[in-house]
Amino acid sequence: MSSPVDRAASPLAWRMCKMLAAMLVLPALLVGCTASGTGQGPGERRSELAAAPVRVLGLAQHHVNIALGSYHWGVGDAAEIATAAATRVSQACSGDRPAVTWLGHSSAIIYIGGRCLLTDPVLEPKPSTISPLPQRLVDMPIRVDDLPEIDAVVLSHGDYDHLHLPTMTALARRFPKLEVLVPPGVAGFVQQAGSVRIIRPRLGAPMQFQGLTITAERAHHETRRNLTALKSGDAFSWVITDGRKKILFIGDTGYGPAFRQIGRSHGPVDLVLVPIGAYEPRELVADMHVNPEEAVRIAREVGARLAIGIHWGTFKLSPERPSDTVHRFRHAGREMGVKARVLPIGGTVAVP
Ligand SMILES: [Zn+2]
Ligand SMILES: [Zn+2]
Repeated sequence: MSSPVDRAASPLAWRMCKMLAAMLVLPALLVGCTASGTGQGPGERRSELAAAPVRVLGLAQHHVNIALGSYHWGVGDAAEIATAAATRVSQACSGDRPAVTWLGHSSAIIYIGGRCLLTDPVLEPKPSTISPLPQRLVDMPIRVDDLPEIDAVVLSHGDYDHLHLPTMTALARRFPKLEVLVPPGVAGFVQQAGSVRIIRPRLGAPMQFQGLTITAERAHHETRRNLTALKSGDAFSWVITDGRKKILFIGDTGYGPAFRQIGRSHGPVDLVLVPIGAYEPRELVADMHVNPEEAVRIAREVGARLAIGIHWGTFKLSPERPSDTVHRFRHAGREMGVKARVLPIGGTVAVP
């Protein structure tokens, strides 16, 4: 038997239940409508996405969450990402074998053919309104002033977490002759940061560069460097070889047919740097960020002897836990017969 208070509260509670149900069910229906689509298209994951109106609102909320640092991870997740000694980073380009050193997120040093390449560098702590970034989980493994001599910067695209203007300005000051390889729509930002030697390779055309052959290839991603989230440039994957070893750098991507094509044109590759994080919520970002299983599929499609997971564990860009990311990446690697590894930030691996 219910109390008078219960009876009085009942109609209101029922109305609130109905409102809540409508709020939950309506987006689910819209998602369901989209899910019944063909599932084709560049990203091949469009079936997971919410319908456009729900997605626009959802992405707005997602970006507010990123800006406010609302995505919290536990202590165990922070412990998953150890930081290696900075002294090793300063020697990342001094060995006699090609090697890759992860600097966090999509920043890495690629040492190949005696050249020292830096990818998507975010290495300056200075807060910046022109390059806003969410809270960093772990310290930077090295500052620009302590880097080894860098021959070139390779940018996958111009999103804030990949093209960090304070870092580019510090690099331009320390290395005035530094060359910067960019996809379309990104050069203006790099110029703004002070770099003058900007190279814009043509998609799919191999380019001789400082004794290396570098080829820009597609990625299923775009540059959206503005407050309206409209496309402002492209995104590239980069194939880099010295004629003996071949490395594929993918800074950010959704899953799609580009990688089967890269496998046909360039495979097998010795090492792929492949993004594995920022893949939730799937209904909002499935076409722009691969999940760990898709990352392993990409590694398999390009015939990678070793896959190193990047674009995870550095910035709070999404709600998934880094420990889940790593567990799923390793597990998918075992299931699909791909050697899938992660490094500590500042850690180095020889190219197999
Ligand atoms: Zn991006
Ligand atoms: Zn990114």
